[in-house]
Amino acid sequence: MQEIDIAVVGSGIGGSLISALNQAKDLVLFEKDSNVGGCASTFKHMGAHFNTGATTLVGLEPNSPLQNIFDTINFKPNVIKSDIALCIIQGDKIVDRNSDFEAFLQDIDKHYPHKNNRIFWTRMQKLDNVFWEMKSIYFAKYSLSGLINSTKFISQMALSFNISLLESGKNYIDRTLHGISDEYLDFINAQLLITLQEDAKNLSLLAMALGLSYPLHDVYYANGGMGTVIKDMIQNIELHKNECIENIQKENSKFIISTSKDTYKASKVILNSTIYDSAKLFSDKSIQQYYNNFEFNDRSAFVVYVKLNISKEFLHHYQIILKDFLPMSISKSFFVSFSDINDDILSKSGLSITISTHTQARLWSNLSFIEYEDKKLELQEFILREFLCYFKEIKKEDIIQIFSATSKTFDRYISRQNCGGEAISFKNALSFPTCNTPINGLYNVGDTVFAGQGWNGVAMGVSVLNKELNG
Ligand SMILES: Cc1cc2nc3c(=O)[nH]c(=O)nc-3n(C[C@H](O)[C@H](O)[C@H](O)COP(=O)(O)OP(=O)(O)OC[C@H]3O[C@@H](n4cnc5c(N)ncnc54)[C@H](O)[C@@H]3O)c2cc1C
Repeated sequence: MQEIDIAVVGSGIGGSLISALNQAKDLVLFEKDSNVGGCASTFKHMGAHFNTGATTLVGLEPNSPLQNIFDTINFKPNVIKSDIALCIIQGDKIVDRNSDFEAFLQDIDKHYPHKNNRIFWTRMQKLDNVFWEMKSIYFAKYSLSGLINSTKFISQMALSFNISLLESGKNYIDRTLHGISDEYLDFINAQLLITLQEDAKNLSLLAMALGLSYPLHDVYYANGGMGTVIKDMIQNIELHKNECIENIQKENSKFIISTSKDTYKASKVILNSTIYDSAKLFSDKSIQQYYNNFEFNDRSAFVVYVKLNISKEFLHHYQIILKDFLPMSISKSFFVSFSDINDDILSKSGLSITISTHTQARLWSNLSFIEYEDKKLELQEFILREFLCYFKEIKKEDIIQIFSATSKTFDRYISRQNCGGEAISFKNALSFPTCNTPINGLYNVGDTVFAGQGWNGVAMGVSVLNKELNG
């Protein structure tokens, strides 16, 4: 039996970042799939490469949590800055979201006129700026240092944001953009759904500000696919791909780890499996109970992958907002990411496109096989029809591959049905999962524990975990 100091279970953004930070240690990174990166991986299908889920990389500004980690490990990802962060199309309205705040505001005033637009969007930007300038971001339980640092962080949050933590986003919208049209509200909610998996009524004002300000930051495109960033970052780490962790047994101060290939003994285990999928790895009832206490977050994604045989220049990212909900979906919009025309891997012999929308995991798991296949095709065809209406330069004949993934597909490949975790708020803070657990030596990392989803959200959690891990 191989003895190791740290076993990291999963090579998603969280598992890979924490492994890279601790690469000098006796550490093994296990990944059940043949690709690294989880939701941020890139896979090959019938000769063409596709981004699985994540397509935008935000967080490369100096002193952001992600850039701080990249600086520490001396890593420069192979990325290019997108000229426009995101182009949002709603009917005949087109809004380019980018870091030029005044240009964005002009578009907003043109398409969604309201006398308080400047007040609203300036407040969003200010709250976002104050948050990212905070130095004491920390949230961990079950350790003295964790509790002390979390208390400092919460006090600083209360001082800096006071009412913005308690007021709901929707309330602030009603107060500031009173009489807002349904169309404008859909525009706001569609963006919140992609950044925070929620709409304004379920978010605090602060969370809404962070979600809406996402495209005001520089957005980067990963050359060769998002999985290439992960692959490059972990190249010096002992990586065991295609090796699934099947059972973990606590034995005195160590963990006995049984995988699909071998057995290991580790002093510390860091799980990059979601908080909802971790109980099944243990036979110990008290550990199972810890994980089973978290209520499953049912938000998931439906993703359509398209390969074209043509190469034309498009922006990297578009969001199309429709009037009604998509079938089987909890969203009125879908997000389209094109490979860069100069990307030698993704755009080889034609563009690669990843299109995603939001669904509920349970909707798919409760269907019979035939119903599942029918509904999957129905949603794929619906999205394809709408996509072709909005991108008239692309013809159906240009498509050489099209297929899609539901929560069941995600489960098969990366052992998770849900996508993203809950947004932390004052209401759920006490029960919100943190990187450390009541079990000595057992940690979690990724988007279902603090701080949340996406590169920067997960990186924030990784920074806290790294401090907890290394005292
Ligand atoms: C459709 C979609 C689009 C998105 N778009 C963006 C975007 O544009 N930008 C952005 O920043 N974020 C985006 N996100 C969110 C982002 O991708 C996720 O928040 C992030 O990738 C999650 O990282 P994680 O660390 O939680 O790991 P995960 O992605 O959950 O990866 C966990 C890894 O652990 C492995 N694993 C699990 N169990 C085991 C086991 N028992 N043994 C071995 N290995 C195991 C899995 O195979 C997987 O590789 C998107 C998400 C989705 C679904």
